[in-house]
Amino acid sequence: MKEINSTEFESEVLQSGKVVLDFYSTECPPCEALASKYENLSLLYGKDVKFLKIFRQQNRDLAEKLGVNGSPTLLFFNNGKEVGERLVGGIKRIDIIRNLNNMLPEKRVKEIKNNVKPSVSEFDVIILGAGPGGLTAGLYLCQSKVNTVLIDIALPGGHVSTTHEVSNYPGFIEPQAGYMLSHNMSEQTKLCGTVYKVAVDITKVDLDKKEVLIDEYETVKAKKIIIATGTTPNLTGAPGERELKGKGISYCATCDAKYFDGKEVIVIGGGNSAVEESEYITRFASKLTIVHQFDKLTANKQAQEKVFKNPKINILFENEPRSFTREGDKMITEVENLKIKERRKLFSDGVFIFIGMKPNIDLFKDKLILDRWGYIKTDEDMRTNIPGVYAVGDVISKKYRQITTAVADGTIAAMAISKEMD
Ligand SMILES: Cc1cc2nc3c(=O)[nH]c(=O)nc-3n(C[C@H](O)[C@H](O)[C@H](O)COP(=O)(O)OP(=O)(O)OC[C@H]3O[C@@H](n4cnc5c(N)ncnc54)[C@H](O)[C@@H]3O)c2cc1C
Repeated sequence: MKEINSTEFESEVLQSGKVVLDFYSTECPPCEALASKYENLSLLYGKDVKFLKIFRQQNRDLAEKLGVNGSPTLLFFNNGKEVGERLVGGIKRIDIIRNLNNMLPEKRVKEIKNNVKPSVSEFDVIILGAGPGGLTAGLYLCQSKVNTVLIDIALPGGHVSTTHEVSNYPGFIEPQAGYMLSHNMSEQTKLCGTVYKVAVDITKVDLDKKEVLIDEYETVKAKKIIIATGTTPNLTGAPGERELKGKGISYCATCDAKYFDGKEVIVIGGGNSAVEESEYITRFASKLTIVHQFDKLTANKQAQEKVFKNPKINILFENEPRSFTREGDKMITEVENLKIKERRKLFSDGVFIFIGMKPNIDLFKDKLILDRWGYIKTDEDMRTNIPGVYAVGDVISKKYRQITTAVADGTIAAMAISKEMD
């Protein structure tokens, strides 16, 4: 692997054969997460592809000329031409491998694959998931000198890293940008010495053996596992939803309703969450329209009665969202009346979507005792039914899911484990 600068770009990249180039920056957690994967792959593919690095901050003109505006960015070149995908941010090993393999003959790809040596590392505790719950557990364990590894399929931070503003996490007078709060949590845990394996693919989790296979070749073993994998909100699937998440579309009333004081809001859903959260949102919003696909709400009767009595709430039954767009500071929700198949546009200041959350447990749910909604049951020390396996944060069965509650769970699990390991 070689470090180049912009004056060498012509000879080292454009006048060479197969090249992969890493635009990196300092003080860049995703660049740090990539560094060991890049190094490791350079040993595997180094005979066939030239692995180069270039410091983006000192080679800004070249970065701008190439349209590189995020760190890290990986570019692949073959005989002077850029090929394959541009990989940016939390780059996964399998994505790099796919692009490298596309530049090589099939026979050579097979040979390289055969050269991959499985690796094994051992820790006291594996934490799956580096959101607030996992990061706090990591911090407490590390401070108790318990050798801990945090494994995440994405970059650290969990939901907080994509939350626009957090105003209810104690210790900050002003609301904090979600990405800064999660960055600070992550850096605090990392600085203590917790090992991070992030933006990885999790191939297999064996809760009984306390083993996790990542990126198909690296086995991580431990004495205990903490599951802190959080939840994923169900999406409507309507165009515009992903793009406008956090920019007009929210999945959390406790977090965001306060920003809609005196404003008009749309709520998608009709179950308990949608109805109870609508009631809460009208403490702030002046008008709220519930868009629900059926001809009746599915929430419990008590909650329904409150909503029917609330003069600020109007319900559009048998309607479904078809698209979300934004014009200036207005959100436009296009809805379809399922009965007469007619579409119309609803203008509002914001949209809340409450059509359920899904706990992230697909890889290891078989032996765990779950509640009827699929969340992991734990005791008061966050122990699951499997010896040595704990669960914390949004993924567990509980009533309130917030950063503070996830952080509290992480603390409890870590303290219980530290005591057991004494
Ligand atoms: C849009 C939005 C805004 C919010 N705003 C607020 C707010 O203002 N204040 C507040 O208190 N709460 C807020 N919340 C709730 C809060 O974010 C959560 O309660 C909190 O993040 C839960 O932390 P966690 O660690 O349990 O899970 P998460 O934050 O969900 O983190 C889980 C982590 O696990 C990783 N993961 C998933 N699957 C796997 C796997 N198989 N293996 C390994 N890792 C995996 C994920 O990549 C993620 O990093 C908000 C939630 C949402 C969705």
